[in-house]
Amino acid sequence: MKLQRTLKLVLKPTKEQKQILLETIEQYKFAYNYICKVGWEAELWNSIELHKLTYRTVKDKTFLPAQLVISARVVATESLKSAIKRKGKGLKSKCPQSNNPAIRYDKRSYTVWLDREEVSLTTIKGRQRFKIKVPEYFKQYLDWKLTSANLKYDKKLKKFFLHVTVEKDVSEIETKDFFVGVDLGLRKLAVVSTSDGKINKFFDGGHVRAVSERYQALRKRLQSKGTPSVKRHLKKLSRKEKRFRTAINHKVAKDIVELVPAGGVIILEKLKGIRGRIKAGKQNRKWIHSWNFAQLQRFIEYKARAKGIKVVYIDAHYTSQRCSRCGHISRRNRKDQAHFVCEVCGFQLNADLNASRNIVKNYLASLEGKSGHGEAGPSVWGVVNRPYVGSVGCAVHG
Ligand SMILES: [Zn+2]
Repeated sequence: MKLQRTLKLVLKPTKEQKQILLETIEQYKFAYNYICKVGWEAELWNSIELHKLTYRTVKDKTFLPAQLVISARVVATESLKSAIKRKGKGLKSKCPQSNNPAIRYDKRSYTVWLDREEVSLTTIKGRQRFKIKVPEYFKQYLDWKLTSANLKYDKKLKKFFLHVTVEKDVSEIETKDFFVGVDLGLRKLAVVSTSDGKINKFFDGGHVRAVSERYQALRKRLQSKGTPSVKRHLKKLSRKEKRFRTAINHKVAKDIVELVPAGGVIILEKLKGIRGRIKAGKQNRKWIHSWNFAQLQRFIEYKARAKGIKVVYIDAHYTSQRCSRCGHISRRNRKDQAHFVCEVCGFQLNADLNASRNIVKNYLASLEGKSGHGEAGPSVWGVVNRPYVGSVGCAVHG
Protein backbone atom coordinates (compact mmCIF):
# COMPACT_ATOMS: atom_id res chain seq x y z
CA MET A 1 0.00 0.00 0.00
CA LYS A 2 1.32 3.43 -0.92
CA LEU A 3 0.70 6.43 1.27
CA GLN A 4 0.84 9.91 -0.16
CA ARG A 5 1.02 13.29 1.49
CA THR A 6 1.29 16.78 0.09
CA LEU A 7 3.53 19.17 1.97
CA LYS A 8 2.86 22.83 1.48
CA LEU A 9 6.10 24.78 1.74
CA VAL A 10 6.64 28.51 1.59
CA LEU A 11 9.58 29.68 -0.48
CA LYS A 12 11.76 32.50 0.74
CA PRO A 13 13.35 33.92 -2.43
CA THR A 14 15.62 36.92 -2.54
CA LYS A 15 14.41 39.95 -4.49
CA GLU A 16 16.35 38.84 -7.53
CA GLN A 17 15.12 35.26 -7.26
CA LYS A 18 11.56 36.49 -7.02
CA GLN A 19 11.91 38.13 -10.41
CA ILE A 20 13.41 34.96 -11.88
CA LEU A 21 10.51 32.87 -10.58
CA LEU A 22 7.87 35.28 -11.79
CA GLU A 23 9.44 35.35 -15.23
CA THR A 24 9.73 31.55 -15.28
CA ILE A 25 6.04 31.25 -14.45
CA GLU A 26 5.20 33.81 -17.12
CA GLN A 27 7.05 31.84 -19.78
CA TYR A 28 5.61 28.57 -18.53
CA LYS A 29 2.19 30.17 -18.88
CA PHE A 30 2.96 31.04 -22.48
CA ALA A 31 4.07 27.45 -23.15
CA TYR A 32 1.03 25.93 -21.49
CA ASN A 33 -1.46 28.20 -23.23
CA TYR A 34 0.23 27.82 -26.59
CA ILE A 35 0.30 24.01 -26.43
CA CYS A 36 -3.33 23.96 -25.34
CA LYS A 37 -4.29 26.14 -28.29
CA VAL A 38 -2.51 23.93 -30.79
CA GLY A 39 -3.98 20.81 -29.25
CA TRP A 40 -7.48 22.25 -29.05
CA GLU A 41 -7.48 23.28 -32.69
CA ALA A 42 -6.15 19.91 -33.84
CA GLU A 43 -8.38 18.07 -31.33
CA LEU A 44 -5.31 16.30 -30.11
CA TRP A 45 -4.14 15.13 -26.72
CA ASN A 46 -1.51 12.67 -27.78
CA SER A 47 1.67 13.56 -25.94
CA ILE A 48 4.13 12.60 -28.70
CA GLU A 49 2.16 14.37 -31.44
CA LEU A 50 1.87 17.50 -29.37
CA HIS A 51 5.57 17.41 -28.64
CA LYS A 52 6.34 17.33 -32.37
CA LEU A 53 3.93 20.17 -33.06
CA THR A 54 4.99 22.55 -30.31
CA TYR A 55 8.42 21.86 -28.83
CA ARG A 56 10.49 23.87 -31.30
CA THR A 57 8.28 26.93 -31.15
CA VAL A 58 8.15 27.00 -27.36
CA LYS A 59 11.90 26.50 -27.14
CA ASP A 60 12.52 29.35 -29.61
CA LYS A 61 10.11 31.79 -28.03
CA THR A 62 11.08 31.27 -24.38
CA PHE A 63 14.13 30.72 -22.22
CA LEU A 64 12.54 27.68 -20.62
CA PRO A 65 14.89 24.72 -20.20
CA ALA A 66 13.81 21.53 -21.96
CA GLN A 67 12.52 19.97 -18.72
CA LEU A 68 10.03 22.78 -18.18
CA VAL A 69 8.90 22.77 -21.82
CA ILE A 70 8.16 19.08 -21.44
CA SER A 71 6.47 19.68 -18.10
CA ALA A 72 4.18 22.34 -19.64
CA ARG A 73 3.29 19.92 -22.41
CA VAL A 74 2.48 17.11 -19.95
CA VAL A 75 0.20 19.38 -17.93
CA ALA A 76 -1.39 20.79 -21.11
CA THR A 77 -1.98 17.27 -22.41
CA GLU A 78 -3.94 16.42 -19.25
CA SER A 79 -6.07 19.54 -19.54
CA LEU A 80 -6.68 18.91 -23.25
CA LYS A 81 -7.68 15.34 -22.67
CA SER A 82 -10.49 16.21 -20.29
CA ALA A 83 -11.59 19.28 -22.27
CA ILE A 84 -11.75 17.45 -25.61
CA LYS A 85 -13.51 14.48 -24.02
CA ARG A 86 -16.14 16.80 -22.58
CA LYS A 87 -16.59 18.36 -25.97
CA GLY A 88 -16.94 14.90 -27.51
CA LYS A 89 -19.75 14.13 -25.08
CA GLY A 90 -21.52 17.34 -26.09
CA LEU A 91 -20.83 18.96 -22.74
CA LYS A 92 -19.82 22.57 -22.28
CA SER A 93 -16.11 22.89 -22.96
CA LYS A 94 -13.53 25.33 -24.21
CA CYS A 95 -9.83 25.54 -24.96
CA PRO A 96 -7.94 25.28 -21.63
CA GLN A 97 -6.06 28.49 -20.79
CA SER A 98 -4.51 29.60 -17.57
CA ASN A 99 -3.74 32.98 -16.18
CA ASN A 100 -1.44 31.77 -13.43
CA PRO A 101 -0.47 28.13 -13.91
CA ALA A 102 1.40 26.06 -11.37
CA ILE A 103 4.72 24.76 -12.61
CA ARG A 104 5.00 21.04 -12.21
CA TYR A 105 8.39 19.77 -11.19
CA ASP A 106 9.65 16.22 -11.11
CA LYS A 107 12.77 14.62 -9.67
CA ARG A 108 14.90 15.78 -12.60
CA SER A 109 13.85 19.41 -12.25
CA TYR A 110 13.79 19.93 -8.48
CA THR A 111 15.36 18.72 -5.25
CA VAL A 112 14.22 19.40 -1.73
CA TRP A 113 16.13 18.97 1.53
CA LEU A 114 13.60 19.10 4.33
CA ASP A 115 16.29 18.83 6.99
CA ARG A 116 18.32 21.73 5.57
CA GLU A 117 15.20 23.74 4.73
CA GLU A 118 16.35 24.21 1.18
CA VAL A 119 15.02 23.52 -2.27
CA SER A 120 16.56 23.77 -5.72
CA LEU A 121 14.34 24.49 -8.72
CA THR A 122 14.98 24.63 -12.44
CA THR A 123 14.24 28.12 -13.77
CA ILE A 124 14.93 30.19 -16.87
CA LYS A 125 18.23 31.06 -15.16
CA GLY A 126 19.24 27.47 -14.51
CA ARG A 127 19.02 25.79 -11.13
CA GLN A 128 18.30 28.13 -8.25
CA ARG A 129 18.47 27.38 -4.55
CA PHE A 130 15.82 28.76 -2.22
CA LYS A 131 15.33 28.81 1.50
CA ILE A 132 12.08 27.27 2.61
CA LYS A 133 10.13 27.16 5.83
CA VAL A 134 9.69 23.59 7.05
CA PRO A 135 7.31 23.24 10.00
CA GLU A 136 8.53 20.90 12.72
CA TYR A 137 5.62 18.63 11.92
CA PHE A 138 6.96 17.88 8.44
CA LYS A 139 10.20 16.41 9.77
CA GLN A 140 8.40 13.07 10.07
CA TYR A 141 8.51 12.88 6.28
CA LEU A 142 12.29 13.04 6.05
CA ASP A 143 12.56 9.42 4.97
CA TRP A 144 9.63 9.53 2.53
CA LYS A 145 10.19 9.44 -1.19
CA LEU A 146 9.81 12.74 -3.02
CA THR A 147 7.71 12.58 -6.16
CA SER A 148 6.40 15.63 -8.00
CA ALA A 149 5.99 19.20 -6.82
CA ASN A 150 3.89 22.15 -7.93
CA LEU A 151 5.12 25.70 -7.74
CA LYS A 152 2.33 28.21 -7.42
CA TYR A 153 2.43 31.96 -7.02
CA ASP A 154 -0.28 33.36 -4.81
CA LYS A 155 -0.96 36.81 -6.21
CA LYS A 156 -2.97 37.92 -3.23
CA LEU A 157 -0.42 36.91 -0.62
CA LYS A 158 2.49 37.66 -2.95
CA LYS A 159 4.08 34.39 -1.94
CA PHE A 160 5.43 31.31 -3.69
CA PHE A 161 4.17 27.95 -2.49
CA LEU A 162 5.74 24.65 -3.34
CA HIS A 163 3.40 21.71 -2.91
CA VAL A 164 5.62 18.68 -2.60
CA THR A 165 4.11 15.22 -2.88
CA VAL A 166 5.84 12.57 -0.82
CA GLU A 167 5.25 8.86 -0.82
CA LYS A 168 5.87 5.92 1.45
CA ASP A 169 5.41 2.29 0.75
CA VAL A 170 3.72 0.70 3.73
CA SER A 171 3.58 -2.82 2.48
CA GLU A 172 0.88 -4.75 4.27
CA ILE A 173 2.59 -5.45 7.56
CA GLU A 174 1.34 -8.60 9.16
CA THR A 175 -1.15 -7.80 11.84
CA LYS A 176 0.20 -8.37 15.30
CA ASP A 177 -1.99 -9.47 18.15
CA PHE A 178 -1.95 -6.01 19.59
CA PHE A 179 -5.42 -4.57 19.87
CA VAL A 180 -6.07 -1.14 21.31
CA GLY A 181 -9.51 0.27 21.96
CA VAL A 182 -10.11 4.00 22.00
CA ASP A 183 -13.13 5.34 23.83
CA LEU A 184 -13.81 8.93 22.90
CA GLY A 185 -16.04 10.91 25.08
CA LEU A 186 -17.23 13.10 27.71
CA ARG A 187 -15.13 13.20 30.82
CA LYS A 188 -11.96 12.34 28.96
CA LEU A 189 -11.20 13.14 25.37
CA ALA A 190 -9.97 9.61 24.93
CA VAL A 191 -9.44 6.51 27.03
CA VAL A 192 -7.13 3.95 25.53
CA SER A 193 -6.77 0.36 26.62
CA THR A 194 -5.83 -3.14 25.64
CA SER A 195 -8.15 -5.95 26.63
CA ASP A 196 -5.49 -7.49 28.83
CA GLY A 197 -5.14 -4.35 30.93
CA LYS A 198 -1.54 -3.71 29.95
CA ILE A 199 -2.39 -0.28 28.65
CA ASN A 200 -4.80 2.00 30.47
CA LYS A 201 -4.30 5.54 29.42
CA PHE A 202 -6.47 8.58 29.95
CA PHE A 203 -6.28 11.66 27.79
CA ASP A 204 -7.80 14.26 29.96
CA GLY A 205 -10.42 16.59 28.59
CA GLY A 206 -10.52 18.67 31.75
CA HIS A 207 -8.01 21.31 30.78
CA VAL A 208 -9.30 21.45 27.23
CA ARG A 209 -12.80 21.89 28.41
CA ALA A 210 -11.85 24.61 30.83
CA VAL A 211 -10.12 26.54 28.06
CA SER A 212 -13.11 26.08 25.76
CA GLU A 213 -15.44 27.36 28.43
CA ARG A 214 -13.23 30.39 28.93
CA TYR A 215 -13.43 31.14 25.23
CA GLN A 216 -17.17 30.75 25.34
CA ALA A 217 -17.58 33.12 28.27
CA LEU A 218 -15.37 35.69 26.59
CA ARG A 219 -17.38 35.41 23.41
CA LYS A 220 -20.62 35.93 25.24
CA ARG A 221 -19.32 39.07 26.88
CA LEU A 222 -18.10 40.45 23.56
CA GLN A 223 -21.22 39.56 21.62
CA SER A 224 -23.31 41.82 23.78
CA LYS A 225 -21.42 44.76 22.32
CA GLY A 226 -21.27 44.27 18.56
CA THR A 227 -19.15 47.17 17.31
CA PRO A 228 -17.01 46.47 14.21
CA SER A 229 -13.83 46.22 16.26
CA VAL A 230 -15.50 43.71 18.56
CA LYS A 231 -16.61 41.69 15.53
CA ARG A 232 -13.05 41.58 14.28
CA HIS A 233 -11.89 40.53 17.68
CA LEU A 234 -14.50 37.77 17.77
CA LYS A 235 -13.33 36.44 14.44
CA LYS A 236 -9.75 36.39 15.60
CA LEU A 237 -10.83 34.67 18.77
CA SER A 238 -12.65 31.91 16.96
CA ARG A 239 -9.68 31.26 14.69
CA LYS A 240 -7.46 31.06 17.73
CA GLU A 241 -9.78 28.64 19.45
CA LYS A 242 -9.97 26.48 16.36
CA ARG A 243 -6.18 26.32 16.18
CA PHE A 244 -6.04 25.38 19.84
CA ARG A 245 -8.54 22.56 19.32
CA THR A 246 -6.79 21.25 16.23
CA ALA A 247 -3.46 21.26 18.04
CA ILE A 248 -4.98 19.26 20.91
CA ASN A 249 -6.42 16.70 18.51
CA HIS A 250 -3.05 16.39 16.79
CA LYS A 251 -1.30 15.86 20.11
CA VAL A 252 -3.78 13.31 21.44
CA ALA A 253 -3.71 11.39 18.14
CA LYS A 254 0.07 11.39 18.13
CA ASP A 255 0.26 10.15 21.73
CA ILE A 256 -2.27 7.39 21.08
CA VAL A 257 -0.44 6.17 17.98
CA GLU A 258 2.83 6.16 19.92
CA LEU A 259 1.39 3.53 22.27
CA VAL A 260 0.83 1.07 19.45
CA PRO A 261 3.55 -0.88 17.62
CA ALA A 262 3.57 -1.22 13.83
CA GLY A 263 1.27 -4.04 12.82
CA GLY A 264 -1.08 -3.39 15.74
CA VAL A 265 -4.76 -2.56 15.43
CA ILE A 266 -6.49 0.56 16.72
CA ILE A 267 -10.21 0.13 17.24
CA LEU A 268 -12.45 3.17 17.11
CA GLU A 269 -16.18 3.50 17.53
CA LYS A 270 -18.37 4.81 14.77
CA LEU A 271 -19.22 8.34 15.80
CA LYS A 272 -22.95 7.92 15.41
CA GLY A 273 -22.89 5.44 18.23
CA ILE A 274 -20.83 7.60 20.52
CA ARG A 275 -23.30 10.44 20.31
CA GLY A 276 -26.26 8.15 20.68
CA ARG A 277 -25.12 6.52 23.86
CA ILE A 278 -24.13 9.60 25.72
CA LYS A 279 -27.17 10.55 27.68
CA ALA A 280 -25.67 13.57 29.27
CA GLY A 281 -27.07 16.77 30.63
CA LYS A 282 -27.60 19.76 28.39
CA GLN A 283 -24.15 21.20 29.05
CA ASN A 284 -22.41 17.92 28.34
CA ARG A 285 -24.41 17.31 25.21
CA LYS A 286 -23.36 20.65 23.89
CA TRP A 287 -19.76 19.78 24.59
CA ILE A 288 -19.89 16.40 22.88
CA HIS A 289 -21.35 18.02 19.79
CA SER A 290 -18.93 20.88 19.81
CA TRP A 291 -15.71 18.92 20.09
CA ASN A 292 -14.48 17.74 16.73
CA PHE A 293 -14.23 14.00 17.38
CA ALA A 294 -14.40 13.29 13.66
CA GLN A 295 -11.20 15.28 13.25
CA LEU A 296 -9.57 13.44 16.15
CA GLN A 297 -10.44 10.10 14.52
CA ARG A 298 -9.11 11.35 11.19
CA PHE A 299 -5.82 12.36 12.78
CA ILE A 300 -5.51 9.00 14.53
CA GLU A 301 -6.19 7.18 11.29
CA TYR A 302 -3.76 9.33 9.35
CA LYS A 303 -0.88 8.93 11.79
CA ALA A 304 -1.59 5.25 12.40
CA ARG A 305 -1.57 4.34 8.72
CA ALA A 306 1.75 6.08 8.26
CA LYS A 307 3.20 3.84 10.95
CA GLY A 308 1.74 0.63 9.55
CA ILE A 309 -1.02 0.35 12.14
CA LYS A 310 -4.44 -0.84 11.08
CA VAL A 311 -7.47 1.23 12.04
CA VAL A 312 -10.92 -0.31 12.27
CA TYR A 313 -14.31 1.09 13.21
CA ILE A 314 -16.94 -0.82 15.10
CA ASP A 315 -20.53 -0.18 16.13
CA ALA A 316 -20.93 1.10 19.65
CA HIS A 317 -23.02 -1.79 20.94
CA TYR A 318 -23.52 -1.64 24.70
CA THR A 319 -19.96 -0.47 25.21
CA SER A 320 -20.91 1.47 28.30
CA GLN A 321 -23.50 -0.93 29.74
CA ARG A 322 -21.55 -4.11 29.36
CA CYS A 323 -19.22 -5.57 31.95
CA SER A 324 -15.84 -5.89 30.27
CA ARG A 325 -15.04 -8.82 32.54
CA CYS A 326 -18.04 -11.14 32.36
CA GLY A 327 -19.96 -9.60 29.47
CA HIS A 328 -23.17 -9.02 31.43
CA ILE A 329 -25.22 -6.18 29.95
CA SER A 330 -27.40 -4.02 32.11
CA ARG A 331 -28.28 -0.39 32.55
CA ARG A 332 -27.93 -0.93 36.27
CA ASN A 333 -24.25 -1.74 35.81
CA ARG A 334 -23.43 1.80 36.77
CA LYS A 335 -23.02 3.22 40.21
CA ASP A 336 -22.86 6.67 38.68
CA GLN A 337 -21.58 8.22 35.48
CA ALA A 338 -17.94 7.71 36.35
CA HIS A 339 -17.99 4.26 37.99
CA PHE A 340 -18.84 0.92 36.57
CA VAL A 341 -19.91 -1.84 38.94
CA CYS A 342 -21.13 -5.11 37.48
CA GLU A 343 -24.33 -6.29 39.18
CA VAL A 344 -23.45 -9.92 38.44
CA CYS A 345 -19.74 -10.41 39.03
CA GLY A 346 -19.05 -7.33 41.12
CA PHE A 347 -16.29 -6.12 38.84
CA GLN A 348 -15.49 -2.45 39.37
CA LEU A 349 -13.75 -0.10 37.06
CA ASN A 350 -13.64 3.44 35.83
CA ALA A 351 -16.61 3.61 33.44
CA ASP A 352 -14.69 5.00 30.47
CA LEU A 353 -11.96 2.43 30.86
CA ASN A 354 -14.59 -0.31 30.97
CA ALA A 355 -16.06 1.06 27.72
CA SER A 356 -12.65 1.24 26.13
CA ARG A 357 -11.98 -2.44 26.92
CA ASN A 358 -15.34 -3.40 25.54
CA ILE A 359 -14.42 -1.73 22.28
CA VAL A 360 -11.50 -4.11 21.97
CA LYS A 361 -13.66 -7.09 22.98
CA ASN A 362 -16.44 -6.13 20.58
CA TYR A 363 -13.90 -6.15 17.80
CA LEU A 364 -12.39 -9.49 18.85
CA ALA A 365 -15.90 -10.93 19.11
CA SER A 366 -16.66 -9.78 15.59
CA LEU A 367 -13.53 -11.56 14.39
CA GLU A 368 -14.66 -14.79 16.07
CA GLY A 369 -18.06 -14.38 14.49
CA LYS A 370 -16.49 -14.07 11.08
CA SER A 371 -14.27 -17.07 11.43
CA GLY A 372 -17.30 -19.29 11.72
CA HIS A 373 -17.65 -19.89 15.43
CA GLY A 374 -21.34 -19.19 15.24
CA GLU A 375 -22.65 -16.64 17.72
CA ALA A 376 -20.54 -13.53 17.79
CA GLY A 377 -17.75 -14.53 20.08
CA PRO A 378 -19.13 -15.30 23.53
CA SER A 379 -15.71 -16.59 24.56
CA VAL A 380 -14.30 -13.09 24.48
CA TRP A 381 -16.16 -12.29 27.69
CA GLY A 382 -17.18 -14.66 30.42
CA VAL A 383 -13.83 -15.25 32.09
CA VAL A 384 -15.39 -14.58 35.45
CA ASN A 385 -12.98 -16.44 37.65
CA ARG A 386 -9.84 -14.77 36.53
CA PRO A 387 -8.71 -12.37 39.22
CA TYR A 388 -8.70 -8.85 38.01
CA VAL A 389 -5.33 -7.17 37.80
CA GLY A 390 -4.76 -3.76 36.39
CA SER A 391 -4.85 -0.17 37.33
CA VAL A 392 -8.00 1.81 37.75
CA GLY A 393 -7.78 5.24 36.28
CA CYS A 394 -4.34 6.08 37.48
CA ALA A 395 -2.45 7.01 34.36
CA VAL A 396 -3.92 10.44 33.95
CA HIS A 397 -2.48 12.18 30.99
CA GLY A 398 -1.96 15.90 31.16
ZN1 LIG B 1 -19.42 -8.71 35.31
